[in-house]
Amino acid sequence: MTLLKRLVLLTFILTIAFPYQAFAYKIVLDAGHGGSDPGATGVNGLQEKDVNLDITQKLRDELAKRGYEVVMTRTDDTYLSLAQRVNFTDSLQADLFVSVHANSHPNNTVNGSMVLYYDNAYPQEDYPASDKMKQLTPYSKDLAQHVLDALVSAAGTKNLGLVPSAVYVARMGSIPSILVETAFLSQSNDAALLANDAMRSKMALGIANGIAAYSPPMFTDSLGHWAREAILRMKNKGVIDGIANRYEPDRALKRAEFLTLMDRVFSFSKLETACAPNGSVTSAVYSCQTADPTYKDLPDSYWASPVFAKAQKLNLLQGYADGTIRPEQAITRGEVAYLFDRLIQMTAKSTGKSASPKVSFDDVPAELWSANAIYALKQKGIINGITDTSFKPEQTMTRAEIAALLDRYYAK
Ligand SMILES: [Zn+2]
Repeated sequence: MTLLKRLVLLTFILTIAFPYQAFAYKIVLDAGHGGSDPGATGVNGLQEKDVNLDITQKLRDELAKRGYEVVMTRTDDTYLSLAQRVNFTDSLQADLFVSVHANSHPNNTVNGSMVLYYDNAYPQEDYPASDKMKQLTPYSKDLAQHVLDALVSAAGTKNLGLVPSAVYVARMGSIPSILVETAFLSQSNDAALLANDAMRSKMALGIANGIAAYSPPMFTDSLGHWAREAILRMKNKGVIDGIANRYEPDRALKRAEFLTLMDRVFSFSKLETACAPNGSVTSAVYSCQTADPTYKDLPDSYWASPVFAKAQKLNLLQGYADGTIRPEQAITRGEVAYLFDRLIQMTAKSTGKSASPKVSFDDVPAELWSANAIYALKQKGIINGITDTSFKPEQTMTRAEIAALLDRYYAK
C-alpha cells in the first residue's frame, strides 16, 4: 500500500470511528446591521455595518481554511431584520451562531471587547427567550467564553467580560448563539483599531480560534429533548448514529435503520451460527433459511442490503405482496415490538414463557398479531405505551423512542 493510500484509508477509518467528535460542522456568521441600518458611527467616521461585514468576511475565510462549513446571513450591504437572521439560521440546522458587531457608548473613554449571550439565570420578562435557547445557556456561555478569551488574546483589546443579554439574535434561535462586540467605535483608540485592516484580521483570527477551542455538544438538535440522555448513552455505547451532528430525534425510524440497530444489538451473524448448514433448524421463534432476499426495491447497492440479507436468513423479514420490502418506510410501534421481542427470545437462554401480562392497552386486543410481543416487552419494562391505556401499535416509532427503548433494554 502506498503512503497516500494508507493515509486515505486512515482518514476513512478515523471518519467512521470519530465522525462527530468535538467539531462544529456548520457555523452561521452574522455581520450586524447593514443596508439602511448603519449601526453605530465611529469617532473617525467609520460605519459599524461596514466594519462588521469586513471582519465577518475575514472570519469566514479563516474558518473555511480550517474546514468548517460557513454560512453568512449577509455578504453585502443588505438590510436584514433580526427575525430574518434568526429564521434563516433556524432553517440551516447549523451547530452555532456568531453575530459580529462593534460597540458604542455615550462615555467616549469606554473601550474593550465583550461577548453577549442569553443566560437563563437572568431572564428579562419583556424579552423572553425561545424555549430552545433557555436550554442552551451553558453551551452559549461556553462558546462566548472561548471566543472572548481568544479575541482579546489575538487583538490585545481590553477584556470587558461576558454579558448576559436578551438581544434578539442571542435569545431567539435554536442553537448556541453569541454576539461579539469587537471594540468601541465611540472611543478613539478602539476606533483606530477597527479602522486597521491588519487588526480586523487579528480580530477575525481571534474569534476563529475561540470557535475552534469550543467543543459543541453532541447532536445539537437533541439538546433539551426528553430522550437526550438515552440518546447520548446509546451513542456512547456505539448503538445509534446521527446524521452529521444531528440525531433527528422526532423523525420516524425507517425499517432499514431499525434492522441496522437490531443487528448491532443482537448480532445477526452470531444468531446465524445456530442455524444448521442446510438451514433446516427451526423452533418456535428460531428459523433459518438459505435463500437470499429478492425484493424488487432492495438493490445490492442499497446501503442496508447486507443487513436485510442477514435478517432474511433469520426469517425476520416479511415482504409485501407486491414483492417489495420497503426499506425506507417508517416502521410502526407494533412491528418494532414484534421483532424486538422475537430477537430477545432468540437470544434468551430460557425458553420459558413469561407469566400472563397484567397490563392492558385498549388498542392492543389479545388477538392482535403483535399483542404478545407488546405485552411481553411492557412487562419487562422495555417498552411503554403512549399513555397507560393506549399503545398505538400502528403509529410510527420515532428515533427518540427507539433510543429510549434500547436504553431501557440495556438497563435491564
Ligand atoms: Zn451593532
